[in-house]
Amino acid sequence: MAPEHIPFNRPYVTGQEQAYVEEALRSHHVSGDGGFTGRCHRWIEQRTGCAKALLTHSCTSALDMAALLLDLGHGDEVILPSFTFVSTANAFVLRGAVPVFVDIREDTLNLDERQVEAAVTSRTRAIVPVHYAGVACEMDAIIAIAKRHKLRIVEDAAQGIMASYRGSPLGAIGDLGSFSFHETKNIMSGEGGCLLVNDPALAPRAEVIREKGTDRGRFFRGEVDKYTWQDLGSSFLPSDLTAAVLWAQLEQAERITRERLAIWDRYHGMLAPLEQRGLLRRPIVPGHCGHNGHLYYVLLPPEVDRGAVLGRLKEANIHAVFHYVPLHSSAAGLRFGRAHGDLRLTTSLSERLIRLPLWIGLREEQQQRVCDALGDILGR
Ligand SMILES: *Cc1c(COP(=O)(O)O)cnc(C)c1O
Repeated sequence: MAPEHIPFNRPYVTGQEQAYVEEALRSHHVSGDGGFTGRCHRWIEQRTGCAKALLTHSCTSALDMAALLLDLGHGDEVILPSFTFVSTANAFVLRGAVPVFVDIREDTLNLDERQVEAAVTSRTRAIVPVHYAGVACEMDAIIAIAKRHKLRIVEDAAQGIMASYRGSPLGAIGDLGSFSFHETKNIMSGEGGCLLVNDPALAPRAEVIREKGTDRGRFFRGEVDKYTWQDLGSSFLPSDLTAAVLWAQLEQAERITRERLAIWDRYHGMLAPLEQRGLLRRPIVPGHCGHNGHLYYVLLPPEVDRGAVLGRLKEANIHAVFHYVPLHSSAAGLRFGRAHGDLRLTTSLSERLIRLPLWIGLREEQQQRVCDALGDILGR
């Protein structure tokens, strides 16, 4: 008999979502910025210390808003890793800016801050650190470079909710930050995201851009007697139904994070012997980075055929996946972006990475099966 299938991801539901969605429906305020949206905003502001939290349809649209807010346009350059999801670059390309791809660090797979300054030109306007796996980039060094060259920092903290750098919550460190609430993330509302406005000077315009370029927010606060078209914008706000689902999750964010970290720690312990035998490399989390158990990956030795390993895991009824195809080598990346240097580590590490199943409810014996299968496949 085939062993039980172990899926890669299973979105976690707290059980409170349905009641809150019904409450939103009964409230007669189902569109954006209803009661649940307000609760989510206040929670994110209190937890992270950001000046203003604004829910969006996705992290992608939060990054789109960031590019609009910073007035990025043709000829401007934005420094970011190539080892990331497409949205990190696409948001800026949509405005006509050029993504300049910088290599990653060997330990955390994050943007290598030691290579950022050499990529700065007279056209550089912003740096976009991506906190991969909820492990922080070296923000002190990145902030120092941004100060020296008068650059903005937009944190792609899609994976970073509840994680920190030297005690500071991710997403609330740069001028702007973004969270994702996609179902594959720790805290989810199906699709969803948030823009964190940390520079208070950007907050009024962020509100306008999110409301189709109008001052509707000020109108509802009674600050103006009608609302009109003020600026560029689009419809970036999610309905209160999405916010109701999100609120059910945010209320449980501590527990969700604790449980994910427990699963992460179990993998880390189980895989230590395989690392000692030189069969794989486990993730490295620097002591000053408080992570959130977002994902568990292993790096295979360079000579191992990753496709074959994933195939063998599939035969064992285990769904493991890889990511990312580096942006600098993808069709759109070649067309719209520019590589800084040879991006040697981005290319080699991205080809060696496997993500293991990690979701709340994954049992210890299932994790043991994953690790035993990996040991069997790699050990011969
Ligand atoms: C998930 C993710 C995104 C996109 O998030 P959406 O909410 O799906 O738009 C962007 N950047 C990174 C690093 C991600 O992991």
